[in-house]
Amino acid sequence: MPRFVRVATKSGPRFGVVDGASVVLLDGHPFGGHERTQEVLGLEGLRLLAPVIPTKIVGVGRNYAAHAEELGNSIPDQEGTALLFLKPSSSVIGPGDPILLPTDMSSEVHHEAELAVVIGKILNRATPSEAEDAIFGFTCANDVTARDLQRAEAQWFRAKGFDSFCPLGPAITTDLDTSDVRVRCLVDGEVRQDGTTKDLLRGIGELLSEISQTMTLLPSDVVLTGTPAGVGPLLPGQTVSVEIDGIGALVNPVIDRMARPQA
Ligand code: ZN
Repeated sequence: MPRFVRVATKSGPRFGVVDGASVVLLDGHPFGGHERTQEVLGLEGLRLLAPVIPTKIVGVGRNYAAHAEELGNSIPDQEGTALLFLKPSSSVIGPGDPILLPTDMSSEVHHEAELAVVIGKILNRATPSEAEDAIFGFTCANDVTARDLQRAEAQWFRAKGFDSFCPLGPAITTDLDTSDVRVRCLVDGEVRQDGTTKDLLRGIGELLSEISQTMTLLPSDVVLTGTPAGVGPLLPGQTVSVEIDGIGALVNPVIDRMARPQA
């Protein structure tokens, strides 16, 4: 299974393909014409960046029955429309980057471990099978959410949209069989979420098709497929890890943004 990464190099961010314990750098980027170069870097000590910079991130609420129930919500009628929302591209961070808790505006920020779909081709009013053909690959996401603001405000603009609220990575795996893939979240090593995509209420092709009836999905766009049960708070000083078999572990420290000098 090819695994694409984006890495920090002396000459700036570059895309690469993981080959054993090394990364082979690419000329170009994975969504367009690209070629493997002769430049090979050791994975160890390399700084991995978010593997994609999407033009937009689309999320879906309540796509696992057990998670809808834990928040006291009804399970959406699958004949009806999906509960969709946007996260801005400015919310994306990479592996190892800190999640900044906006403690001045929210006192309840939750982790949400999710399988993220990375789009490879333009999708506009597509059928589910056309949508499946347009998938480039999959990565891990943490759909960080200010739960108190989500409850208090009709729009999820702020609850889902703070800087650093969309960790992505560590790699994009193509050819992942997503029929039954394990999605876990660990906080300081303790398992908080442990679900499988077998329990997705809306399948990935259907979800992408439905989004594309409203807005065109572009290569590099990211669609979050929903979170399994077990969401809970993140506190300053903790480390959160989203782990998906076949992709890897997306690990981020958690800090209070008010305890950090502004960049
Ligand atoms: Zn979510």
